[in-house]
Amino acid sequence: MQTEVLRVDRNNIDQKIIKKAADLLKKGELVAFPTETVYGLGASGLNDESCKNIFKTKNRPIDNPLILHISNIDMLYNLVEEVSEDAKKLFGLWPGPLTIIFKKSKLIPTTVTAGGDTVAIRFPVDEIARNIIEEAKIPIAAPSANISGRPSPTNASDCFFDLDGKIPLIVDGGESRIGIESTVIDLSEDIPTILRPGFYTLEMLREILPQVRLDDALVDDNVVPKSPGQKYKHYAPKARMQVYVGDRAADFIYKKARSYRSQGIRVGVLIFDDDMERFDDFYKISFGDRNDLRQMSHKLFAALRQMDKMGVDLILAEGVMDNNLGKSIMNRMKKSAAGNIEYL
Ligand code: AMP
Ligand code: MG
Repeated sequence: MQTEVLRVDRNNIDQKIIKKAADLLKKGELVAFPTETVYGLGASGLNDESCKNIFKTKNRPIDNPLILHISNIDMLYNLVEEVSEDAKKLFGLWPGPLTIIFKKSKLIPTTVTAGGDTVAIRFPVDEIARNIIEEAKIPIAAPSANISGRPSPTNASDCFFDLDGKIPLIVDGGESRIGIESTVIDLSEDIPTILRPGFYTLEMLREILPQVRLDDALVDDNVVPKSPGQKYKHYAPKARMQVYVGDRAADFIYKKARSYRSQGIRVGVLIFDDDMERFDDFYKISFGDRNDLRQMSHKLFAALRQMDKMGVDLILAEGVMDNNLGKSIMNRMKKSAAGNIEYL
């Protein structure tokens, strides 16, 4: 299959391209499109066969349910059994990078929920995503548009790298603004529980629902996550990766990088602006300013893919403290590095 990439300017959206994407989705085809978090691999969320095709195309484990994307809150009511008062309070964060888990209605195909009785719903804020869903007039199932296990794509060319020849259309809307996936919060049981940390942090959500807690698996590595996706190998570059956190992290990375390189290992470093100069003769990418966690989350996945393009064998990366947005970033980095994190 030939994969077409069509560029859309988000300040002047070409409705012909939106219609083309929506028509393909309505016909049951897969289309990749930008959202504010990462690029999504979309399919009609009401078409079981199309949803099965998402799993096949991404090589996604069959027990990992999909998020349904809507373009207005009215669309929600047919998809879920009940909308609680807690959910209504969270609607203040919609549209945006928040996924809410509800008890599902009968309308939802079993493939979407991986056979479970709950469904994940998100109302994205990205104009291109919203336009496509609005035009299709159906909820769109859209996991991240990468081959499972790889870092999520945050631009059209990273999407193309994984999906070229597998889907008919990628809508190119430039870089995803946020760069890490949505926060997933489960409201289907008594206590609202964060299953996946994201742009909206525990601290921010507690301002709206003070009783919000983190899933035990986010606190204790030995607990099985409630969100199936959290248990798989994820966000992994081809290179091996080690993460260091703490005041001495950059010095430590410097020593390690020199030592590995002297053993003939091709080393890439993922560090902050203030350390870029001293790593002059290494493969290196900056996360930007070390105090700007939003910029760091924006850059993370693209940087990991860039490291693979540079052909490094080993990535040495500086991480951040595990609170606020740092918690969400470290959740991704920990998986990218297969748990290889050292606190110094
Ligand atoms: P992705 O689509 O790649 O961003 O992954 C979606 C995430 O949402 C995965 O971690 C899924 O396991 C999680 N998810 C989707 N639906 C549900 C659900 N009904 N219950 C719990 N987690 C879910
Ligand atoms: Mg994903």
